[in-house]
Amino acid sequence: MLVFSFVAQADQLDFLKHAEQQTNTAPYSSYQTLLSLESEAVDSGPETELRWLKEKAYAENSLYFYQEFDTTVRRAYQLIDVNTEAEIVASFMLFAGIAAVRDAEYAKALEFYRKALAESQKHSLHRIYLHAKQNIAYVLSLTQLYETSLNEIQQAYVDAFALDDKLLVAVINETYGAIYGYMAEYEKSIDYYHKALETYRALNYPAYIAEATYGLASTYRYWGKYQKAIEEFRNYQQILSYTPNVEVSYFAAYGLGMTLAEDKQCQAALPVISQAFTLNGPKDYDAELYKRRATCFIALNQLKEAEKALAQARDILFGIEELNGTSWQLDIVKIEAELAKANGNLEQAYDLLHSYQEKNEALYKKNASERLISVRASLEYERQKTEISLLKQQARVQSLEVVRKQQQNQQQRYLIVFILLIVIYIATLLVTQRRNNAKMKQLTIIDPLSQVYNRRYMFEYLNSLVDGKEDKLSFALMVFDIDDFKKINDNFGHPIGDQVIKQVAKQAKKTLRQQDVFGRIGGEEFMAILPRIAAEQAHDIAERLLTAISQHGVPLTTGAKLEPVSSDRVEVTVSIGVANYSSTLADSQTLYSCADKALYQAKRAGKAQVVSYHAS
Ligand code: GH3
Ligand code: MG
Ligand code: MG
Repeated sequence: MLVFSFVAQADQLDFLKHAEQQTNTAPYSSYQTLLSLESEAVDSGPETELRWLKEKAYAENSLYFYQEFDTTVRRAYQLIDVNTEAEIVASFMLFAGIAAVRDAEYAKALEFYRKALAESQKHSLHRIYLHAKQNIAYVLSLTQLYETSLNEIQQAYVDAFALDDKLLVAVINETYGAIYGYMAEYEKSIDYYHKALETYRALNYPAYIAEATYGLASTYRYWGKYQKAIEEFRNYQQILSYTPNVEVSYFAAYGLGMTLAEDKQCQAALPVISQAFTLNGPKDYDAELYKRRATCFIALNQLKEAEKALAQARDILFGIEELNGTSWQLDIVKIEAELAKANGNLEQAYDLLHSYQEKNEALYKKNASERLISVRASLEYERQKTEISLLKQQARVQSLEVVRKQQQNQQQRYLIVFILLIVIYIATLLVTQRRNNAKMKQLTIIDPLSQVYNRRYMFEYLNSLVDGKEDKLSFALMVFDIDDFKKINDNFGHPIGDQVIKQVAKQAKKTLRQQDVFGRIGGEEFMAILPRIAAEQAHDIAERLLTAISQHGVPLTTGAKLEPVSSDRVEVTVSIGVANYSSTLADSQTLYSCADKALYQAKRAGKAQVVSYHAS
């Protein structure tokens, strides 16, 4: 039995988990269920009782059950101790703030909200934190601290958006609507109320819809769009049927009464205002109604009634410290002036009106300068932000530029190095090729042993001379042959024979002129072509050559002698045949054979001599 009753109890109290949602959609039935759970909640200990009280307070607030709400909050505060969950504590701080606002105790309300803010922040209770912020913004706007208020609500909005809490965003939009309404930015206000209403209607939360509709109607009233305002106040009255509380119709009566009075429909306004006073509304609201009542009585020339109403308004408004210096207080002076005028006290009326205008101007200036300062500050902030971001961009562009330049320079350097390498490569290639070509050419025209021209080159040159356009009439051809060379080879060996060939070539080169062309055309046979020279001169040169060669033998080392020879050096002589180019010797072949004939004659005549060919 005990177990069953426990389960049943637990099941019933499960309602607390989704009580808030239930309250949102059906406030009154939710409230009834909550009331039925009291004994179970109380029996389950203070923690459960507090959770139950929290849901109860929420429902009472939604139903405009002010007295019950206040009692519930006070009851909760007595149960709260150091062991109470932070969420419960913070929630009741919020509720205490709401209760204070309703009593027009704004400073106290702010204190509670700030406590809720700190507590929820400490325990990361995001929704309560944002509700606290939103409520702070609202209270600040009630005391006309619009800039601070907007600042708070803006922060709340950003965070609520991040939390993706649709209801919270809508509540904040509604608060924007209220703030902009007070700031006389009516279009904005209407926009925000519509935004909030859209969400509330989609969620189907009657208490929220009613609140926002009331706000919307009020903005139309402030705006002077009385027809729209009256329409929305009536609308509000309809929606309020969700709560059985008659007192709530105070606000409908208040709104309608105010609107009608402002629309100068005083006959209609006065009974509605009177009805409102029977419904126990907030004090500061009552003060507004008294002001309108006073104005209406002035209009209807019921001046005694007007004075009474005005005194009642004054009592309330000057009793709320937070309203000192606000336009709500200042309005009293204006109505006093109107009343004085209606009473025929024109001088007093003028003084009052003058005083009102001065104070109003001062208030306007204060608000304007406060607003201007904050606008300037925010402009300055924006400007700095822009400047910073511009500077950042500039820095980025500059660094990009630097990087780009560096890359460009690097690329240019690479390109230059690359081009240089190619140039060097090509140059090297060209030089090598040239060198190779030269080498190749040398190889094809130079005799490797004697390092003078070879036979092929000599005959090519001779042919080119004879066939060419050069002065053919004055050149000599000389051929010579080492005497008894076979014996040299035999006596001293081939290496010494090679030395002798080299020595002969060397002496010949020394003796011959720069322009003479000289080469080896066979084993120990040589040829020289001597341009621009007369026949006698050629002969003389041949004689000189003969002498030079015979004077320079090749020195012998002991080991080089194959057979016993007395001398220390190899004696070398040559025989030379000379032929001069002439009209009869006009081709290379004939010229060569003539020179060769002369050489043969020299050999036959005993060697070591020069023979010049003479045609005979
Ligand atoms: P002459 O006085 O009549 O010219 O008699 P010679 O011995 O000089 O002439 P011969 O033609 O009988 O001999 C030439 C020799 O030269 C034959 C060959 O072995 C030798 N010879 C040819 N080319 C070279 C060479 O490059 N080096 C050496 N060491 N001997 C060579
Ligand atoms: Mg020979
Ligand atoms: Mg010979």
